[in-house]
Amino acid sequence: MAELANRYENNVLGKYFVDNQCIDCDLCRETAPANFTRYDDGGYSVVKKQPATPEEEKACKEAMEGCPVEAIGNSGPDSEAELAAALKAAKGGK
Ligand code: SF4
Repeated sequence: MAELANRYENNVLGKYFVDNQCIDCDLCRETAPANFTRYDDGGYSVVKKQPATPEEEKACKEAMEGCPVEAIGNSGPDSEAELAAALKAAKGGK
């Protein structure tokens, strides 16, 4: 299961995100090309746009379920403040 604490910072904010388990297999980019892209400098995928239509939502869910290493999560933060709070909580409130 993807961990918010390991989320790549260059995902766009929002519920879907990729964490550092990504092995750059390309499946999510093939399945949901409107929403996932490759970060070439790092050699991994990130979410470039959160799903905005039922079709994109379906594609993102399919990508998440198909990811071979479960590097895609759907409990990402909607704002920087939410992200900061979630990361703080993940670190035990420190
Ligand atoms: S499907 Fe998973 S492992 Fe493959 S590129 Fe996407 S996030 Fe990375």
